[in-house]
Amino acid sequence: MNDVLVVGAGPTGLLLASELVLAGVDVVVVDKAAERSGQSKALTLQPRSVEILHSRGLLGSLLDGAPRLPAGHFAGLPVPLDYTALDTRFPYQLGIPQRRVEQLLEDHLVAQGIVVRRGLELTGLRQDSAGIVASFSDSSAIRAGWTVGCDGARSAVRRLAGIEFPGRDGRFSAVVADVVISGVEPGWGLPALVPRDGAVMTMVPLEDGVHRALFTGPGQQNVPKDQPVTFDEVAAALQAWYGEDVVLRELRYASRFTDAARQADRYRAGRVFVAGDAAHIHSPTGGQGMNLGLQDAFNLGWKLGAVVRGDADDDLLDSYHDERHPAGSAVLANTRAQGVLMVPDDDVACLRETFVDLLGVPEANRRLAGMISGIGLAYAGGEHPLVGRRMPDLTLADGTTVSSRLRGGRYVLLEGGNLPAARILVRPDGYVRWATDDSEAEVPGFARVSELRVTTASTTR
Ligand SMILES: Cc1cc2nc3c(=O)[nH]c(=O)nc-3n(C[C@H](O)[C@H](O)[C@H](O)COP(=O)(O)OP(=O)(O)OC[C@H]3O[C@@H](n4cnc5c(N)ncnc54)[C@H](O)[C@@H]3O)c2cc1C
Repeated sequence: MNDVLVVGAGPTGLLLASELVLAGVDVVVVDKAAERSGQSKALTLQPRSVEILHSRGLLGSLLDGAPRLPAGHFAGLPVPLDYTALDTRFPYQLGIPQRRVEQLLEDHLVAQGIVVRRGLELTGLRQDSAGIVASFSDSSAIRAGWTVGCDGARSAVRRLAGIEFPGRDGRFSAVVADVVISGVEPGWGLPALVPRDGAVMTMVPLEDGVHRALFTGPGQQNVPKDQPVTFDEVAAALQAWYGEDVVLRELRYASRFTDAARQADRYRAGRVFVAGDAAHIHSPTGGQGMNLGLQDAFNLGWKLGAVVRGDADDDLLDSYHDERHPAGSAVLANTRAQGVLMVPDDDVACLRETFVDLLGVPEANRRLAGMISGIGLAYAGGEHPLVGRRMPDLTLADGTTVSSRLRGGRYVLLEGGNLPAARILVRPDGYVRWATDDSEAEVPGFARVSELRVTTASTTR
């Protein structure tokens, strides 16, 4: 019997599996697809995701070559969210498309001896007090102590575990299409999502002369999500927006998406968890979905690892829902708010102008930048004001950094020097678990000695 079965090898499942391996857990990963699609819905990593991958030493050479965009956007408004004001080593979106994130994570897993078992579609799931039994469309079965559904928006794990997915359906449908075009130079910058004649078009350059077009208009509404996007549909949308001169040369990839907003009512049902798109769906505005899933995985991985090892009690696992459900709700709320700001309506245009004005206020801009980038997230606090907050990646007096100390995926106790508290206990995912201004205080027992890495190095900051 395996310790954990991860269903779905998208970015969420791959990072979760990697975290579980780091925690010393015996993990099996399955995916229904025979091979990875090679397509990228997400095009960038937000700063918090860059931080978490960096803290496990996973980014490697990707950091050197990738474009760095020192800004985010809110509803495509013309005032960028200034990421340079964020307290992070990575004050930018890193231009790494989703397929490269997946490749990086899968390569890392393979290097740890874990090969994704492909072509296995989960169709059945049972659990009892000892574990779970998953069955697959080829009639095979896998037994494990726990399972995590990282199987995307239509999650079979979620359905089979009886987890509800309340919310609302999409109010509009749109198309994402990777195109090669001629006859127009669409430019580059933050998407200018200003509607025209009930339509919206935004264009982002990718590699090798390919552009990513995202568009919606009357012709995209009331179309089933599974209906294929045709060459003619994309060509017509491009011509309606850019004029007759634009020629669609190639359509490399296209699919439909909506602004449906739904969230699992619980992220845990006994020995079953959901993470990533299996736990929440929302419009892609602002570029947060993949990042939210990576951060779900980063929150759950060390907790599940500690419980499987016997280093923590089962109730630690409840904190996964308690922490990540509100984080998901916040993203649903901000994407829905962005959707309202994009409605083609004169009154909404006034609201957009008000927002543009507010985004010129540094504090307001920084607040939204913190929200979209993930840097601003904090979990429920404790007695000390640092508890629940993300630990900044300080450089320690011995030249190492907090993030390098976290590489092993265990708690780190920082003490001495000019830290913001006398002793700070940092969780494996980089959030403060406990802090004190009393240098004589005992570290509480929740971080068992076997889990603790202590550094007495003071900081240089
Ligand atoms: C147009 C568009 C643009 C986007 N842009 C961004 C962006 O800029 N930034 C951003 O952060 N996010 C973006 N997103 C969202 C992002 O792509 C998703 O949030 C992300 O893919 C979720 O990852 P995941 O691993 O949770 O799920 P998925 O990527 O959906 O992976 C799920 C995996 O589970 C497998 N699976 C499904 N069912 C089963 C089963 N029954 N048995 C076994 N395996 C199964 C699937 O084959 C798949 O490999 C965008 C989304 C869209 C639609």
